Amino acid sequence: TVVSRFAPSPTGFLHIGGARTALFNWLYARKTGGKMLLRIEDTDRQRSTTEAIDAILDGLAWLGLAWDDETIFQFARAERHAEVARQLLAAGKAYHCYATPEELEEMRATAMKEGRPPRYDGRWRDRDPSEAPAGVKPVIRLKARQDGETVVEDLVQGRVVIPNKDLDDLVLLRSDGTPTYMHAVVVDDHDMGITHIIRGVDHLTNAARQTQIYEALGWVVPAMAHIPLIHGPDGAKLSKRHGALGVEQYRALGYLPEALRNYLVRLGWSHGDQEIFSTEEMVEAFDLSSIGRSPARFDFAKLEAINGHYIRHATDDRLLAAIDDILPHIDGGPALKEALTPARRDQLLKAMPGIKERAKTVLDLIDGAGFILAMRPLTVDDKARALLTDDARGHLAALHTRLAALADWTAAAADAAVRAEAEARGVKLGALAQPLRAALTGRTTSPGIFDVLEVLGREESLARIADQMR
Ligand code: GLU
Repeated sequence: TVVSRFAPSPTGFLHIGGARTALFNWLYARKTGGKMLLRIEDTDRQRSTTEAIDAILDGLAWLGLAWDDETIFQFARAERHAEVARQLLAAGKAYHCYATPEELEEMRATAMKEGRPPRYDGRWRDRDPSEAPAGVKPVIRLKARQDGETVVEDLVQGRVVIPNKDLDDLVLLRSDGTPTYMHAVVVDDHDMGITHIIRGVDHLTNAARQTQIYEALGWVVPAMAHIPLIHGPDGAKLSKRHGALGVEQYRALGYLPEALRNYLVRLGWSHGDQEIFSTEEMVEAFDLSSIGRSPARFDFAKLEAINGHYIRHATDDRLLAAIDDILPHIDGGPALKEALTPARRDQLLKAMPGIKERAKTVLDLIDGAGFILAMRPLTVDDKARALLTDDARGHLAALHTRLAALADWTAAAADAAVRAEAEARGVKLGALAQPLRAALTGRTTSPGIFDVLEVLGREESLARIADQMR
């Protein structure tokens, strides 16, 4: 069975490219009935932080990408990495190298001068260990094959062939006994039983080097799928300006995790022209063979459109939960949380169908809910204030009397009452409805005004009208 893995380095937030890699691994595991494991690559002790680890775990949980089994921490496995390096040494597949930093620097400088990539020249490859200088701690290098070629059969990039003469003897274990990234990844993937490595194409050269290590160990090389990178809409490498934000920032911007997931799956993968996928459809349709090779382009407008789609189709309860979810993460969230009393939650649920029609993000929902959360006397914005002329305030007074007399406080009854009053005063419906909206919501746009009346209830509605009438 398939075992995939997501192997982030916890040196920053879970960015959008990482989230997409995790999603592809997760989908492939779900699709095949396998597992997705999580490995935190925390060997860079300076740059790895617990905040970053938490951000990754939170981000995955928020996106609904649950991993299987226990989380593996790479640093904790350092002794195992060293042991494997020593095995290679004992088998004659690796050797101690005593080259000094100065010698290595010289090799680099010469290569630079000759315009070729820096390579270790193998000077300790066949030297007798008895020649080792005293007091120097060696590194362990792989005794890589020098003839032939190393082949990566990539499920996305195809067959990648690298002549072995272009690959030098890479370091497996540093002189302080810590493993290199290249070596640790191979040992971990093997020990974790990984069958499929799905990651960014920026790791393709590493794939060749890692393949050399697998071959030296006589281990089976996992299947590999190196997926295209995500670029900005202008084709340049993705930057913050383009949307290279952390997943938690997308959450604070009001994107639903299901919408972000749907948006991400289409970055590099396609299934005909289909844009919208339920999670089940995504799992069902996903396949590594449908991942393209050209870079995906990140497009905020498209993400927003998909998010709007998910919001319009979500249940009102789901959207209320999405509002709750975002409040701890936005400015003014705690105050809003307090304002959301049980009574107001009910009002909000009732008003949601009207609010979600005009919302693209959860922030838009919160904005649309403003009339429910507002406290009297309402802050009336400039446009709405302009509607509250003397005439309009007179109309409001008449409306107040008529509405106060209603037996049933429903949208339909309010609708009939406002129409009757418009007719009685010989004015168009808008001449009453617009000032009414201004008085009830403080704005010129809102859900349907009769729904607003019903949602706010008799007492609050009449009080808000009274605040503005003449
Ligand atoms: N830790 C690496 C990264 O965050 C990924 C390693 C891998 O997937 O093999 O880029």
